[in-house]
Amino acid sequence: MSAIFNFCAGPAMLPQAVMQKAQKELLDWNGQGVSVMEVSHRSKEFIALTEQAESDLRQLMSIPSNYHVLFMHGGGRGQFSAVVNNFLGNDGKALYLVDGSWSQAAVEEAITLAGENNVDTLNIVDLVDGVKQVCLPDLSVIDKDYRYVHYCPNETVDGIEIFENLNSPWPVVADMSSNILSRNIDVSQFGLIYAGAQKNIGPSGLSIVIVRDDLLALPSLPQSSIMDYRLAVKNDSMYNTPPTFAWYLAAEVFSWLKASGGVTQMEQANIKKAQRLYQCIDELDFYVSGVAKQNRSRMNVTFQLANEGLDGLFLEQAKAAGLVALKGHRSVGGMRASLYNAMPIEGVDALVSFMKQFAAENS
Ligand code: PMP
Repeated sequence: MSAIFNFCAGPAMLPQAVMQKAQKELLDWNGQGVSVMEVSHRSKEFIALTEQAESDLRQLMSIPSNYHVLFMHGGGRGQFSAVVNNFLGNDGKALYLVDGSWSQAAVEEAITLAGENNVDTLNIVDLVDGVKQVCLPDLSVIDKDYRYVHYCPNETVDGIEIFENLNSPWPVVADMSSNILSRNIDVSQFGLIYAGAQKNIGPSGLSIVIVRDDLLALPSLPQSSIMDYRLAVKNDSMYNTPPTFAWYLAAEVFSWLKASGGVTQMEQANIKKAQRLYQCIDELDFYVSGVAKQNRSRMNVTFQLANEGLDGLFLEQAKAAGLVALKGHRSVGGMRASLYNAMPIEGVDALVSFMKQFAAENS
């Protein structure tokens, strides 16, 4: 079979070298004659894996020592509720910034759990010159006492990314499900970072939580034990049996990232990949981007065909050319090419040449 480039937004493609290693050791992990799926999470070999994974992630993201790293269940949405239950208590209020579908979904979960009176919402996306643009508010002038402010720096569905940090008087909680490890960030600017694993880390189901120690003292609501941050910290993320295979694969991805030059190297490659694709979209009237240049996501490039009637043909011919999963999210339509760390530049080049040829043949 010739090369397939998988542009799925998630579960997304994983580095080929990692998949090949996992395949090789699937039946015999670590010389034990059994699969990593078949050993106790409390065995010394598995504990060694978890320690290595944490230390690699700390190194990759320069995570300060006053932050805990947790490996939890329930993907991104699991954290929508965990954040509320762990930090709001009976009388706490939170501010939610909305810049797209996922931050909107997070607000809805917060309101369900904490009630409308305890959740304030601020839309931060405007239409400027016909395209979506993020206008960050000055949070320091808001005279309120929030436990935290929540936002999503990369909106996977809408293709919107926020590159500046929030200037916030309250701890910042960020849903980095689709841009974690794609560029350098200063972790100390955040109170909590969470990410579902299935884009830049590993298989779905697992989520990574990076939480500043002092936030664990906030009053919490009654909640299920497996989503309790304090219990997770106390039990080294093993209060109950963790998703061990996903953890193993995440560990392999971290080790691949380190061997590939770390986040700095990824960031440079991601800038280059995104620039090539946006340049093609901007050069041809055939394609349209609905996002202002300064907020165009490097991870999820959304675009429309000027003639929507050609969407079906575009997807069909792209697939025949080995370029799969380019259909935009069902809620917004159009196209979306997800360019996570594992996507090689060759995949972007193949997509760009296909798009140019398709435009020439159908203009
Ligand atoms: N947040 C973001 C930014 C996402 O992209 C997604 C999933 N695509 C989620 C949250 C939800 O993740 P999950 O399906 O793992 O709950």
